[in-house]
Amino acid sequence: MGCGLSARIFPTSVAPYSKGARVIDGHTWRNTGQMTPAIAEIAGENARPYASLRFPPRDGASPAYAGDTYGDGVTYDWDWYFRSWTFYPFSWAEDDLLALLASFFVEAGFVTQFQIPMATLNTLMARVRGVMRAQPYHNFQHVCDVTQAVFIFVQAPTAIAHLPPIHRFAVLLAALMHDLDHPGFTNLFLKHSGSELTQKYGPDGTLEKHHAALALAMLDAPETDVLVHCTPAERAEVRRLLEKCVLATDMSRHKTIIDDVAKLMPKHFEAAVQHTRVERMTSLQPLRARLPAAPVHNARGAKGAGGLPERTSHDDEARARHLFDRRRESIDRLVKSGQTEAILLLFIKAADLSNVSRPAHANERWVSKIYAEFHRQGRAEAERAFPPSPGMAESDSVAKGQIFFGGVICRPLFVMLAGVVPEAVPFLDQLDLNLERWKAAAALEDADAAARAGAAAEPT
Ligand SMILES: [Zn+2]
Repeated sequence: MGCGLSARIFPTSVAPYSKGARVIDGHTWRNTGQMTPAIAEIAGENARPYASLRFPPRDGASPAYAGDTYGDGVTYDWDWYFRSWTFYPFSWAEDDLLALLASFFVEAGFVTQFQIPMATLNTLMARVRGVMRAQPYHNFQHVCDVTQAVFIFVQAPTAIAHLPPIHRFAVLLAALMHDLDHPGFTNLFLKHSGSELTQKYGPDGTLEKHHAALALAMLDAPETDVLVHCTPAERAEVRRLLEKCVLATDMSRHKTIIDDVAKLMPKHFEAAVQHTRVERMTSLQPLRARLPAAPVHNARGAKGAGGLPERTSHDDEARARHLFDRRRESIDRLVKSGQTEAILLLFIKAADLSNVSRPAHANERWVSKIYAEFHRQGRAEAERAFPPSPGMAESDSVAKGQIFFGGVICRPLFVMLAGVVPEAVPFLDQLDLNLERWKAAAALEDADAAARAGAAAEPT
């Protein structure tokens, strides 16, 4: 592609990702100047052939992550990578992430539809990066991760078919700004330490109110007001939804939100979702067909196009079709009863917790980062003689913590998400694979502890 197009899309100082080859994940990625057919199809009429990078695996290319199986002749495409669930933002330079964030709004069609000036959009991205602090977990890369997940959700064909653009736009914007100026400590810690934020916003949803207030302030500032060309009604609606979505990321409201959405769902939806493997064989077959060959990162180190299994028997197919129709009923029912906002809350919450459902390489790295932040808080609590927050002591088992968090806290949310948007079924499957891996790790921990106890009990 020529530089002209990228200059139009990225007219400010944000560097487009189109300049020559670069090394990422130990591989050389090159700009081939072509958009993959899958991306062109997903992006629809807003498709623009900017900066598709790909690299041929080098001879004897070593896998970027344990469990990857890069075969000869497989093309790795940058577009595919950052739109896939394998995305891991720490693999990218921050300037590239800024361009990536802007590209989500371009590709989803929001820049065109809401007439967002690109310079304003890029300034907003830079401001968001500017207020995110350098710390183990709640940093700019977490923001990119959550925004990328919401981008995938709002661009799922089911979401495009059922949700108004303004809702999809609002939740993507909310993801971008959902953790602004996060201090890396929890609301409870802020309360115990008598923080200014607690005094200002109260002890409930302290940080979430702070993030939302900063987000709305950024939309008030002319240089970052991406709603500048919206009608007053659109503007009010985006701001209202954005605030609602950001406040929903408060984990103390997690169960209430899930329970509320569950009440809106048809009774049979959960049973339908439990048959995910049957359904993905058929309902996702068209999706599979249009995915380019790409590396699959999963706990089993399997390789294939999206890891989707081959076709099933006629009976299974009929059953899957039936279940799929039931699931469409779920989203239809929410939409018809005017409950689409519940779907937006599912999107932002699942994206915020998406670490548990990402492929093994990303899942494990994110877990080590959140524990670095937890342990920092655990030490700070001990120093100040605050009541210890659960799971934040270095002696706590990470594996067991993940089994509880992924299996008990997050899984119901992903079941519901998959119940509304069938494209999310593979993410639920990956969550289950991750749980299996953490269970195996916990079993090893127990065996080690038993061996140590046995050794200690033996006379020396
Ligand atoms: Zn977050």
